[in-house]
Amino acid sequence: MSNRESRSGGYPDILLGRKSLGRYPVHKLRRVDAITTEVRGEIQRVDQTQNGFELAGAGAYGEKCRTEYERSMTKFPLDYALAEFVGSIFSPYGTGPVAPEKAPLPNDPAILSEHIRSLGYFLGADLVGVCELPQWALYSRDAERDPIVCTHKYAIVLLSEWDYKTTSGSLGDDWISDACSFVAYDRTAHMAVAMAAYIRRLGYKAKANFETGDFNPTFDMPVTPLIVLSGLGELSRAGWALSPFLGGRFKASVVTTDLELRPDRPIDFGLQSFCRVCKRCAEECPSRAISDSDLMVLKNGIMTYEFDVERCTKYRIMNQNGAFCGKCIKVCPWTKPEGPTHDLVRAAIRATPFLNRAWVKFDKWLGYGQQDIRYKWWFDLEEVGGRHRIPKRSPDNDYWKK
Ligand code: SF4
Ligand code: SF4
Repeated sequence: MSNRESRSGGYPDILLGRKSLGRYPVHKLRRVDAITTEVRGEIQRVDQTQNGFELAGAGAYGEKCRTEYERSMTKFPLDYALAEFVGSIFSPYGTGPVAPEKAPLPNDPAILSEHIRSLGYFLGADLVGVCELPQWALYSRDAERDPIVCTHKYAIVLLSEWDYKTTSGSLGDDWISDACSFVAYDRTAHMAVAMAAYIRRLGYKAKANFETGDFNPTFDMPVTPLIVLSGLGELSRAGWALSPFLGGRFKASVVTTDLELRPDRPIDFGLQSFCRVCKRCAEECPSRAISDSDLMVLKNGIMTYEFDVERCTKYRIMNQNGAFCGKCIKVCPWTKPEGPTHDLVRAAIRATPFLNRAWVKFDKWLGYGQQDIRYKWWFDLEEVGGRHRIPKRSPDNDYWKK
């Protein structure tokens, strides 16, 4: 054994966190002790039946919205193709029997965390984070109104990005929008199921939480708090967790487990001061669901910007010019891919918060957030009554208000 190996207990650099299979420089992020969202009280568990899509499906947003909800996943053929098989393939394997005997693993949560992180990258994740799983982060009830019970101590969060060029080629709320989500959801479903099955074979409990596309997601929790807690992002003005490397251009799955791990710390890359002045998502949101106010409100124990779930959900479901919507993600200045120029700007934003307004203006001036038609590779098609037609684009898409 070399001197270096003996100093490290004989473990290779990758299990000591000195190397990574991941391609993003997460080691350069500023780690902090507490999340950058201000917590002002007790956070209550939320009921999954009260999320926007569940309410829409139950008719709470009106009969037209309920009817559109039922056809929403099937109206664009690629969306349907990506979403229809995930549930039937993966749902039976989210949980399963645990091996009766524990495998001889290192008795070191830090080493095990790096092992699991590397596994996530090996399976294809773009970013992997680990956090403790507080009970408040779980839904109180699932969509079937059954109480959610999960005593696993840790959550492993797996992010999968979707193609930036495709996002550039879209309007953000046209036909490809939801397919972008589902191509990432499909990948994360596979990663989560494989990771949970592996942990169970090692003799520890584990459950995969992922989106199935058949209105029957397996999530025991909303993912945004866990993305923030595991140091993969900060809470944004738009209400979703924003990654410093991907913006909101990703989807997540979660593996919960009782395998002893070492949690990652939250990050601070300057998003709170950036969101305060940027407001790009609020300006471009077609349903005006995102607040452009400077004031934050206290919502379930945290200080956050107002967000109108009903307006967003109705627009996404009843959008007649596309399938769902991701315009806030498309126009967000952080959505750009890695690359020397963008990485330099990200670093500059972190270092010069007083220039945030100028950065936002510069971003707009360069035309980011506009459609780059050179990358529109898909055909706009709408399935109606089992037949495809080329949809007409209405200049006034306010069907969702009716
Ligand atoms: S998804 Fe679309 S409607 Fe919803 S907040 Fe984002 S931009 Fe607005
Ligand atoms: S568009 Fe601007 S305000 Fe909205 S989430 Fe992104 S950085 Fe924050």
